[in-house]
Amino acid sequence: MRTAADLKKVLHKIDGRGYKAYKDIEGKYDCGDYILLVDHVQGDPFASPSHVRVQVPGKMAGFPSETYSNKSREVALRDFLTRRFLEATRRFSKGNRGTGKSGIISIDRPGQEILERTSAFVTEEYVEARFVMGLPAFGRRIAGGHAQAMFFEELPRILHASLFYKNLHEKTLHEHIRTSEDADFLRDQLDRLGLVAFVADGAILPRASGIDPAPLRGGRVVPFEPPESLLVEMELANRGAITGMGIPKGVTLIVGGGYHGKSTLLRALELGIYNHIMGDGREFVVTNPYTVKIRAEDGRYIEKVDISPFITNLPFGQGTRAFSTEDASGSTSQAANIIEALEVGAKVLLIDEDTSATNFMIRDQRMQELVSKDKEPITPFIDKIRQLYQDLGVSTILAIGGSGDYFDVADLVICMVEYRPYDLTIEARTIAERHKAGRTPEGGESFGPITERIPLARSFDPSKGRREVKISSKGLQSIVFGTHAIDLGAVEQLVDISQTNAIGDAIYYATRYMDGTRTLGDIVDAVLKGTREKGLDVLGPRPTGDYAEFRGLEFAAAINRLRTLSARKKD
Ligand code: ADP
Ligand code: MG
Repeated sequence: MRTAADLKKVLHKIDGRGYKAYKDIEGKYDCGDYILLVDHVQGDPFASPSHVRVQVPGKMAGFPSETYSNKSREVALRDFLTRRFLEATRRFSKGNRGTGKSGIISIDRPGQEILERTSAFVTEEYVEARFVMGLPAFGRRIAGGHAQAMFFEELPRILHASLFYKNLHEKTLHEHIRTSEDADFLRDQLDRLGLVAFVADGAILPRASGIDPAPLRGGRVVPFEPPESLLVEMELANRGAITGMGIPKGVTLIVGGGYHGKSTLLRALELGIYNHIMGDGREFVVTNPYTVKIRAEDGRYIEKVDISPFITNLPFGQGTRAFSTEDASGSTSQAANIIEALEVGAKVLLIDEDTSATNFMIRDQRMQELVSKDKEPITPFIDKIRQLYQDLGVSTILAIGGSGDYFDVADLVICMVEYRPYDLTIEARTIAERHKAGRTPEGGESFGPITERIPLARSFDPSKGRREVKISSKGLQSIVFGTHAIDLGAVEQLVDISQTNAIGDAIYYATRYMDGTRTLGDIVDAVLKGTREKGLDVLGPRPTGDYAEFRGLEFAAAINRLRTLSARKKD
């Protein structure tokens, strides 16, 4: 193996030469207490920066085995190392110098969630960090001296501060791991206890702002306080028992006046599929891992989805057993979003009136009388919500302040008053008895079929110009797959651009399983099995530090929004 001295020599030799000469440094170097791997060198100083890894031998890194002895701990430790590495780049990297991206050293940037990422790995053998470096140049001439400073002054400081156990704050590291393990432990217990969600006593749900996911701070924050009737005690792996509000399986309404905290509670439940960092306020807010936020999404593409449980008899005899459109309406998009989620295993639906199509949600007595059922294609959700639970075992939590007709179909009614939840189930039942809704149920005998689809490989073309495969993410909410953009703006449980990166590449990876017989569900399962067994690295051509774990639900959502998608119904 080449050594640090060899790298120094090359950098000295290529100093002042054209940028392409940087290619000479690709390879592996023994640098004493770590190994440096320059995996991919950027083509010019403006291109996306070069991919670099370091591996510190396990013995030197010194992490006690209990810090990564199960999956939960391992993920949390890797997350922690990424955060510390990032922090160290801010401290020790001089940053931009020279042309374009010259001088940058940077790693994936985790947010409030703790996710499995490819930016850091821990095994008995070594601790690995994957990051990028903007190899420095002035114009197109290699700045070899600056490169030496980056590799031999800044980088060693960064990795010593972040990848060696003895240099980390021990208590913070252990707390981080314990908190995340406790959240997993909590989430794992939900199903057995007949719950779909748990919100801990004292949790802080509101966020600093619509664009800042940090917790809201200050004197006006109301910590979560569970109503007596819903109080449950749960055992944690590390912290002993905690109490909080348990939401049972079935149909739950979150009602209350405008601005009293309905959507804030629902949003916290949406993100309860993830673990949160200490101090977030939602550390012990957990939901069933197959919980999906459903919303209206007019304008979206739909390919052969059987939306007949909700919509039939469209004008001009348009069928709905295999409904396709380039431009869905509010109600058809919301129906498709539900069916597609059920197709890949959703167990809990979260719906907010704020982002729903009104005509999909309700149809009251007066409207039923004015517009007869044979002139209305939509069977409103209110007539399907119980069948969802009875026929398919799928629970719903619905934030709705606008329609009391839903009292008839609810198992539980939580009312938010000044950010405090109250159990008003009995009151709502009494009112429902006193004032009969008078509407006629339109849902029929059963929920109806969930027809699976088989995606066709030929409808996935990742090529662009001369590139056979060109896939990139443009921010959190958009993937460009070949020449086609996938809009993920309505896929609200995606939280990290590294998830978007991974999903983009996973779509291409998935095409190997598209044999004309596998359903979308089969394909999603096959891809997740691959990433679980071999790691997220299987998705791309070479090791990258910018993948994060994603669920089958978001993955399927991305495939469903690819506007070239062609599928056939499974018979
Ligand atoms: P609703 O959906 O009932 O209309 P929201 O959930 O949108 O209400 O909340 C309205 C506002 O109140 C938001 O700005 C939110 O940040 C704030 N808020 C929500 N919950 C709390 C809380 N527990 N403490 C303080 N402010 C809160
Ligand atoms: Mg709201």
